[in-house]
Amino acid sequence: MTRAPDDLREALLDWYAAYGRDLPMRRPDVAPWATLVFEVMSQQTPIPRVQPVWERWMRLWPEPADLAAASPADVLVEWGRLGYPSRALRLRDCAIAIAARPGGRVPADYEELLALPGIGPYTASALASFQFHARLPVLDTNVRRVLARVLDGAQFAPKSAPTRTETARAAALLPVDGADAARWNVAVMEFGALVCTQRSPSCDGCVLRGRCAWATAGFPEAPTRPRGQAWAGTDRQARGRVLAALRGLHEENRASSVPPARPSEEKGRSASPPSQSSEAASATGLSRVPGPAAGQPIGLSREEALRAATLPDADPAQAPRVLASLVADGLVAEDPAGLITLPGRSDAPGERG
Ligand code: SF4
Repeated sequence: MTRAPDDLREALLDWYAAYGRDLPMRRPDVAPWATLVFEVMSQQTPIPRVQPVWERWMRLWPEPADLAAASPADVLVEWGRLGYPSRALRLRDCAIAIAARPGGRVPADYEELLALPGIGPYTASALASFQFHARLPVLDTNVRRVLARVLDGAQFAPKSAPTRTETARAAALLPVDGADAARWNVAVMEFGALVCTQRSPSCDGCVLRGRCAWATAGFPEAPTRPRGQAWAGTDRQARGRVLAALRGLHEENRASSVPPARPSEEKGRSASPPSQSSEAASATGLSRVPGPAAGQPIGLSREEALRAATLPDADPAQAPRVLASLVADGLVAEDPAGLITLPGRSDAPGERG
């Protein structure tokens, strides 16, 4: 049951006006394409990790056509350590689809957004609301948790995808004006990220405490807690090591092909993310190798790739399974001679701006 929506909205919007972060990704002059990239990157990764990668992507690929023209290998290298790297390839597929549209622009309509590769209900509603001021609720995990606590008295939102009832209830809370609704969506999202967090909500002094059903009920504990994704020892960790090793080789190759910077260039260059090659090498036990001659593929032998995929005390079946899964997912390619590479050709991209 929705309680005192005007009162709730006013309290939360006032809080946002005072404490919301000035994130470059959320500024009004950010283009729809930049918002799309940010929303995909930030779905399973915290904003502080996303921001530098997003900023670099926007310099490299400021329009969908730019990313559409990039090689999958370069896209994966630039994805870095954001995790769930299939998202990077899906973003490229999305860029190709957008670039093929008339004008090469991100569509404004929710259904058209949803039809793009890799775009689900969350990203479509976020774009439609934030960029085009469609009056739609944007239900990410932070928003769902805030609404579950304030309105339902539940510690956590259901783990399943939002139901129609949940979506309709969130829609009923939206201000009438689309631009105001966008601001409300961002405000609730930010409140969930900074105040009403999953593990340690700051209930003392919370501006919604008097309106919060969970607080009023005495903070009853949920029978189960949402669990974070396991990492240590998992296939995800092993897959990440193979990709880190390949990224490291690409970065080594790129660094060896870049002429020394003139003094006037040093300042700008220092703003780029640090090379991850040393990190990748230490993570996998691989030694630094000289970059390949021009025109030669950049990759690992099958033996090196299996070594990179082998975690301490791992089941011997894990490394081959991990390598096969990376090939099946299109994240790496294996040629007939057993050379493991990132997919597609990679020419070191030139950075814009
Ligand atoms: S009182 Fe606590 S649980 Fe309720 S909205 Fe505020 S921070 Fe969230």
